[in-house]
Amino acid sequence: MIYDVLILGAGPAGLSAAIYAGRNKQSVLLIEQGQDGGQISVTDAIENYPGQMLEGENGFTLSQRMAEQAKRFGAQRVSDTIREAKLDGEVKELVGASGTYRGRTLIIAAGASHRSLGIPSEAALAGHGISYCATCDAGFFRGRDVYVAGGGDSAVQEALFLTRFARKVTLIHRRDALRAVPALQEKAFANEKLHFLWNSVVTDAGGDGKLQWLTIRNTKSGETTKIEAKPEDGFFGLFVFLGVVPATDLFKGKLDLEDGYIVTDENMHTHIPGVFAAGDIRKKKLRQVVTAAADGGIAAMEAYEYIRG
Ligand code: NAP
Repeated sequence: MIYDVLILGAGPAGLSAAIYAGRNKQSVLLIEQGQDGGQISVTDAIENYPGQMLEGENGFTLSQRMAEQAKRFGAQRVSDTIREAKLDGEVKELVGASGTYRGRTLIIAAGASHRSLGIPSEAALAGHGISYCATCDAGFFRGRDVYVAGGGDSAVQEALFLTRFARKVTLIHRRDALRAVPALQEKAFANEKLHFLWNSVVTDAGGDGKLQWLTIRNTKSGETTKIEAKPEDGFFGLFVFLGVVPATDLFKGKLDLEDGYIVTDENMHTHIPGVFAAGDIRKKKLRQVVTAAADGGIAAMEAYEYIRG
């Protein structure tokens, strides 16, 4: 089958595109390899998305509601990992591990994934003390010490969330000023359980099957310090929020990329007719749910116009 609209990625951009394309009565196939919602599926409160003040709502429940809305408008779904993208023909083709998908238009909304610390033991300790998801793993560190690497919105927001579980949360940031927005900074500095290690980066981590020590290098003095878990605790947690890396490997050499992000015009067109990009994967300034949702809506309307000729 050749769909009117193929959408790669079921985060806020892809789900919004599916809602709009579905309302346009187009056939839509939404392809996602993981969990709906992308980055927001592991985010606690989403304070700045309009209307987002429902009791008990978090990023996961919000993305579930978006997915339900897309389903209601007829979007079909497939779970697959795309290995190759063929963009040049009139029919766009995505080749996945389990199948090949064809569309008259393609909206790329594959988003971005977390940046790693880049230390040797990171992979071995992931899930054993090193985590990239506070809402998933905070409970394992109840009453213990927790460290958070990063200084942006994610690091500060998730550090605040972690204070509800941990005895003490220490944010490790490479500079002496946070990147996070002022509203989050205000909350962070007012929180007695949240502490700061400025001008510092994590250089190594280790332990016996769980995270028991970290080394931190001071970016100003070059001095290295070892932090060890309290003997009575046995281990501690390190949550990594160092920003994101766009998921554009598939499109290298095929689409215009800048700093790894897909370049589009303001209406989400890439340089290839019928191929659009929306959300965090796109070169733009403000990467938030509200801009991802807007991108998705615009991309779907442009795809509709493209098909109508
Ligand atoms: P970000 O804004 O890019 O911040 C990344 C942080 O990690 C920065 O503080 C950066 O330091 C630090 N960092 C990057 N690479 C590093 C390295 N190799 N070693 C040590 N530190 C490193 O990423 P984010 O916080 O994940 O946010 C991503 C996007 O999502 C942003 O647009 C953000 O506004 C948005 N977001 C919004 C909300 C919200 O509005 N509620 C919540 C979460 C995320 P420097 O500061 O020195 O560069």
